[in-house]
Parts: sequence; C-alpha cells; structure tokens
Amino acid sequence: MPRIAMANKTIELDDPIIKVSRIGTKSAARLAQLGIRTVRELLWHLPSRYDDYREIGPIARIIPGQTQSVQGVVVSVANRSIWPKRMSITTATIKDDTGAIRAVWFNRPYLADTLEEGSRISVSGKAVLDQRGLYFSNPSHERVGNDNVAPLRHTGRLVPVYPETYGVTSKFLRFLIHPLLESVSIDDPLPSAIRRKFKLLELREAIQNVHYPSTQNEAEEAKRRLAFDELITLNLKTGIDRRARTAQKSPAIAMDVSYMRAIVPNLPFTLTKDQRRAAAEVLRDMERPQPMNRLLEGDVGSGKTAVAALAAFHTAHSGWQSVFMVPTEILARQHEISVRKLATIAPETTIALLVGSGASLNGVPCTKKTAYDAISRGVVQIVIGTHAVIQEKVKFRNLALAIVDEQHRFGVSQRAALIRRNIDQAPHLLSMTATPIPRTLALTVFGDLDISLLREKPAGRPEVTTKVVLAHEREQAYEIIRKEARMGRQTFVICPMIERAPKDENAKPKVGRALQTQLMWAEVRAAQEEHERLTKTVFPDLKVSLVHGRLKPAEKDRVMNAFRAGLSDVLVATSVVEVGVDIPNATVMLIEGAERFGLAQLHQFRGRIGRGEHPAHCFLSPTDSGIVGRRLRVMEKTNDGFKLAEQDLKIRGPGEISGLKQSGFPDATMRALTDQELVRDTRMAADLILSADPKLEKVPLLKEAVTRLTAILHRE
Ligand code: ADP
Ligand code: MG
Repeated sequence: MPRIAMANKTIELDDPIIKVSRIGTKSAARLAQLGIRTVRELLWHLPSRYDDYREIGPIARIIPGQTQSVQGVVVSVANRSIWPKRMSITTATIKDDTGAIRAVWFNRPYLADTLEEGSRISVSGKAVLDQRGLYFSNPSHERVGNDNVAPLRHTGRLVPVYPETYGVTSKFLRFLIHPLLESVSIDDPLPSAIRRKFKLLELREAIQNVHYPSTQNEAEEAKRRLAFDELITLNLKTGIDRRARTAQKSPAIAMDVSYMRAIVPNLPFTLTKDQRRAAAEVLRDMERPQPMNRLLEGDVGSGKTAVAALAAFHTAHSGWQSVFMVPTEILARQHEISVRKLATIAPETTIALLVGSGASLNGVPCTKKTAYDAISRGVVQIVIGTHAVIQEKVKFRNLALAIVDEQHRFGVSQRAALIRRNIDQAPHLLSMTATPIPRTLALTVFGDLDISLLREKPAGRPEVTTKVVLAHEREQAYEIIRKEARMGRQTFVICPMIERAPKDENAKPKVGRALQTQLMWAEVRAAQEEHERLTKTVFPDLKVSLVHGRLKPAEKDRVMNAFRAGLSDVLVATSVVEVGVDIPNATVMLIEGAERFGLAQLHQFRGRIGRGEHPAHCFLSPTDSGIVGRRLRVMEKTNDGFKLAEQDLKIRGPGEISGLKQSGFPDATMRALTDQELVRDTRMAADLILSADPKLEKVPLLKEAVTRLTAILHRE
C-alpha cells in the first residue's frame, strides 16, 4: 500500500506523540498515564471491542431499540437547561429524503456549537420511542462532507472502543489514530517468507484493520498478526539467550555416586522415586561444562527442597558454592532451618542466611559484613536468602549452583542477576515452582528449559479434606477449629483482598502502584477486622494472632515463630502464608472470600496444612453463598495441583496460573500467551529465523523489537 505523507512529513513509529499535529502537552500528559509516549505505543493501544454501526439506512426505516446509522442534514439545533437538576439537553433534528429524526444528548451543552445547521452529519446509536416519536439517545456522530467521501471514524461502520482510562475517551483516541493510519510509516519487521508460511497479514494492514476493520473476522486476523509479533519477539529473545547460554562455560562437577550413596540413607525419610530421579537429573546436568537450566516442578509438599538441598550438599562436597534464593524473608528463614536440619547428613557444610534484616552462619546470628566476608573467602558453601543474595556486595568465591525457589515470583532481571555472579563461569541454574506450567509455555517464557517433575507425594501424608462452607455451616467449621485447638493443634484463617480490580475491562483502571497499595491496605484491614472479631466474639477462649505484609520483617518473624512454637492457636493471615510456610502442627485452614482466589492459589494455601502426621481440614468460605459456583467445588474433589492448574489455565489464562504477571512481561505479550497454537507457531518461526541468521542481521526491525522487550523486562 502506498504511503501517503500528510502535511509534507512522514511520521515514524518511534516519534514522540507530541509530534502528532493534534496532540498538545496536555493530551500528551494524559496519554502518558496510559503508557503511551510514542506513535508506536499509540497505534499499539488496541480496541477492546467494536461498536457495530454498519447498519446504515434511510430515516424512515429506523426501528426502535436497534443500533443503526443514518446520514442527513442538520435542520435545527437547540440547547435546554433543566433546573433544579442541573442537566442540559441538546437536541438536533436531522433530515434525509425519507424523513426526519431527533438526536438527543444529555449534559453535553458544547455540542450545540459544533452542530451547524445545514451541515451533513452521520449518526449512529440506538433509537428509542417517546410520546413525540423516535429519537437517537446519546448517539455517536460526526460531520460528513456533502459529497460523502470523508472517511467515517465514529459512525456508520465497525467503530473501535478503547479501554477508557484517565479520561482519555475512545472518541479522542479515534480522532488521533484514524488520520495517523494514513500518515505513519510502518515497515514490516517480518520476512515475507515467514508471513506466507504462517498466513499473516502485512503489518501495515494489520494495524489499519485492528483499529478500523470492515468485519469482525478482519479484526481477529489483525489481532493474530499483532499477537504473533509479540510472541516471536519473546521467542527470539529466549532463543538468543539460549544460544548465549550454551556458549557459556560452567564448572563441570563430576558426580560422586559413592558420596550420594553414603548420605541419602541418613535422611530422616526415604526419597520418593521422583525425588531420586530429579536429583540424578540435576547432578548429571552439572557434570557438563555448560550451564544447567532446569525447572523442578512439583506440587506443594512434594519435597522439592530436599532435591535442591541434596544438589547443594553434593556441590559443597565437590568444593563449590551454592546459593538458594527465595521470595520472602519468612521463607528464607524457614528454608534455612530445614536445609540446616537436612545438613546433619553433610556435617562439613557451612550455611549462611542472608536477608534484608540480618544474617547468620550455621544458625548463629552475625553481621552482614561477617557473612559477606565468609562467603567471599569460601568458608560458606551454601547461602540461603532473599534478593539480598544478588546484591553487589555479595561476592562468591566459586559459585556453581544457583537455586531459585518459587521462581515465578522473581523478575527476569533478578534471575539474570543471580546467574551473572561469576564473570568467567556461569553457575548452573535450578528453578523450582509449585505452579505447573505447560511445557510449551515454559519453553517460550524461560527459554530452553529441561523439566523435572515431582508428581508423587511422599508416603504417609495425612489426608486433607476440603469442604466449601456456606454461611449456615460456618459454626461447624468453628467447632472443628475449637476441637483441634483442644488437642493442641493449630489453624490458619486466610483473608483475601476486599476488592479486586473491577470486572468490567472497560472500567478497569491500569493497576498502578497507588491502586496496588490501596488493595493491599484493604487486605490488611480485612485481616485486622477478622482478627478482632475472632478474638472477641468467636474464640474468646483461644489465643488468636495476626500476620500480614505490612508488618516489619522482625515483627512478622516474631509472630510466625510464636505460632510455630505453638504460642497461639489461630493465625489470621493475608496471602503472605501462600508459599512455603511449613508448620506441621497446623491442621485446619479456613479461607475467607475463597472465590476471589484462583484454584492454583487456593491449592497453594491448602498445601500449608496436612504437613504433619494428623489429618487436616480445609474450609473454603465464599463471601456470598449464592456465588460458590462449580469452581470451588472442584477443590472438594481433587488434590491434584496439576489438574487444578489446567482448569485455571482454561478459565483464567496464563497470567493467573503461573504467576507470570510478576515477571514483567508486557500486557499484550501476556494476552498472546493464552494462545497455545500461536505459542508453538512463533517458537518454530523464531527457530527458523535464528538458525539462518543468529544475530538477526537481516531482520533489523526484529532485532530492535528484541532490544525493546529486553529493556522492558529489565526495567523492574
Ligand atoms: P515443597 O515441594 O512444597 O517445597 P518441601 O520440600 O517443603 O516441599 O517438603 C515438605 C515436607 O515434606 C518437608 O517437611 C520435608 O521435610 C518433607 N519431605 C520431603 N521429602 C520427603 C519424603 N520423601 N518423605 C517424607 N517426607 C518428605
Ligand atoms: Mg517449597
């Protein structure tokens, strides 16, 4: 398609929007709030739906209640104010060869000035009937030339509706985007062979059609092309990373089978077959001089820590260091305790804990400086901590193994920082997650991974019974909590956020920092209120404590340690206990507002109980008994986290399921990831491109896209 330059200048995609003639500093500021700073970002701000105004007919044929469009001449315009309601009504009468109709707008008095008598306009909307006949109520409208050649933007066709936020209306966006579609220069980054092979529209056409399609089908095809671009960029990035990784050198550590044979029988339990296999896979990977990139997937309680700890002990025995990074301080402290317990089978290892608030060596508190020093001298073989471990100050003597627990909780750059610790040799990377990620998705998101699965539960695990409790059954749940407390056992009460983002996508503000803080406070308040209610009225005879994300780390530790030591019977908590918390004496969990959580997340919570020797109870209490739905009932029937995650993937998409949200991917990429077929296609396409042109020299625009994505991912 020829490029039509407007006002003698071509606008480039990477131009700042202020260069667009209709955008002044005020509009630019508002657009910036939507994350739109460049022409590219403006054009890639996609409609969330389309109003179908294609039905154009003569005025005489208008049918009440239907959405339709007419074109005609404005014969009269009037403005009225209605007191005392402070309302204004603007009425225009429009005429064509077949008849006349009124168009009525409420509270838009300025319209009267723009509707000129004698001018031709196009009107789209719903016609309604009153005593005086038919009229259009708050229709969309625009001027059309007398010759009817001016293109329609707001009426008489499929009209894009954008997610409206920060007072940036769809009308304003259409006003900006429509003329740009003609004047902007859009070069296609995809080689034509790839476009043909995967039956893709040309980029320019896709951008035009996604904003102004003639049919819904055209819009879908355009969206597929744009989603393809998102995912091929991601696949190229992971492909390049993979090539870079295999070109790296890592310490090749020979497996010492007799050492493993000597220590494993001393563990306090017998390893499951899956644990054995996973540990062997890790040690075999580490024998190679290229960095391992293995993901250990296993349901909560499947014993991932033991696998990682064995690998770390073997690494220590071979004279190398390991680091274990976990997302929260509670978890770090807990992991340190469990790894130290397991380390009785490897007594020669020294273990350091390193978190924001302090450090310890083999359980003895010390200054951080002492810990840094011990790590750099190689006195310490295993470092366990939060992202405190990726700070510059932490210098390893010879790091060979980096372990990331709950890896989806970390951003790409944090993971990258962890393995970038050595200059000449990269450590082997073992990531662990309890949220099952479909293989193709994992490969696309994390690059070339090997996966070890722990499907089998360690033997002798007590039964966890799950029950949805409606309002009238709540007292029975409380009774069980009392009974368990009398036997010396403990309960978690989980409080959700009071409010999630609104359901309506169109009304949804971007989740900015302010909103997140607000939601977090709501969550904290809910927990505080519940704590008070339980203390005063429900369990006056029990000891009830409270933990949430707003407590200082030291305070959080104090509460958790007291609960672990059995000093309280009931712990009211926000989602801070979601991952990893290990308190075998806890046998009951009551989850309030359960419908607000994803199934995988509920399953994570549920994994906090049934970790000791006693059977456990999980109660799911929906906010409103009417809305339980089948979704929560699934929890009653299955304890298989993989099955629940598959359900979640179907219902809620990949963002919820694998916690990818935290990983910093752009929204458009996240949305594209729901399409499994596209995930596969783009992976294939990226491989085709990279195998012929590993540096992307022949596809500079794709290379730029990869650079842009990398910048976004490292911005966190
Ligand atoms: P997760 O996979 O959720 O991280 P953990 O590694 O925390 O699971 O293990 C959960 C609990 O199970 C821990 O208390 C751990 O000591 C115990 N455990 C691990 N492996 C086994 C096993 N093979 N047999 C019995 N208990 C085990
Ligand atoms: Mg764990």
